[in-house]
Amino acid sequence: MAEEKATDALLLVPPGAWDAVFGHERTRERLARLLREKRVPHALLFSGPRGVGKKKTALALAAALLCLAPEDGLACGACKSCKALAAGTHPDLFAVLPESSGKAARSIKIEQVRAMRGAVSRAPLISERRVVLIDDAETMNDAGSNALLKTLEEPSGDTTFLLITGARQALLPTIVSRCTGVIFGPLDAETIARVLEAHGVPEETRGPLAALSDGSAGHALRLFSEDALPLRDDAMGTLEALPGLSAETVFSLGARLGALERERLLEWFRYLRLLLRDLLAIYGGSSALLNADFETRLFALSGKLSEARAFLIEGEATEAARRIQTSNVTPRLAVEAFLLKIKQ
Ligand SMILES: [Zn+2]
Repeated sequence: MAEEKATDALLLVPPGAWDAVFGHERTRERLARLLREKRVPHALLFSGPRGVGKKKTALALAAALLCLAPEDGLACGACKSCKALAAGTHPDLFAVLPESSGKAARSIKIEQVRAMRGAVSRAPLISERRVVLIDDAETMNDAGSNALLKTLEEPSGDTTFLLITGARQALLPTIVSRCTGVIFGPLDAETIARVLEAHGVPEETRGPLAALSDGSAGHALRLFSEDALPLRDDAMGTLEALPGLSAETVFSLGARLGALERERLLEWFRYLRLLLRDLLAIYGGSSALLNADFETRLFALSGKLSEARAFLIEGEATEAARRIQTSNVTPRLAVEAFLLKIKQ
């Protein structure tokens, strides 16, 4: 049922949706200009990494296109169309989202594309036009892609297609060429910190989360909800304890870390490796660190741990994570073996 909930949430477009899009100023200006001048192309393809705001932008654009009384090209937030969007009940917004079936990966099926084709053949009910939003468009199979292509080749005039993808190269080239491209890049750390602030994430954790997010606000929020920073703190503390690691500590650490859930333990190893990567960068003379908030501690550690040893630990951490993931060795044994190997 979580799936259905996600679908509902996707289709809720609150008033002011445009203001909820962070960053991408030039893209927003471009779209606003097209709206003002009523020149929005028949089909747009939003591409770029996950979690940077493609869908939010598409929904804000849809609201503006469907609005009955747009102000300066943007949705008014008060008309019948805007109210229906806020309630998630707009009959003229048709969403095509990947569906899961059994164990197969989520994908867009030919039946969904057929249903969409049926819907766009009828006149819009509230608005002057219809908007079709196709999310994760790259998950469409060949039959679906060809059916969509047919629709794109016969523009009906009152339908705007908004395709969203994180993998533009996986789409049929003929679909890509029928759409006007809108490319979204990763977000800068400052913008991600603003998104985190808007979601009520405490100030002190915004910077570190933004730095670890690969430019994706969605990823930063996921890291926050998964309580990732304490794991990273733990990995940092472990690295700092390494120079004087005793056999006793190896077993207490093994017991503590071995008690973590497998996924969390793998996450712990991921942070350990990110920290080691920073450490290796310091030896290499770089000061552009991923874990910038640990700069002082990492520099102090670089004086106690040799480059060769950091390199060795990095290799062993990769191997330990691989073993935890692929073999049925208990996490505790894998952690102990790892610590014994890297102990001086
Ligand atoms: Zn409106």
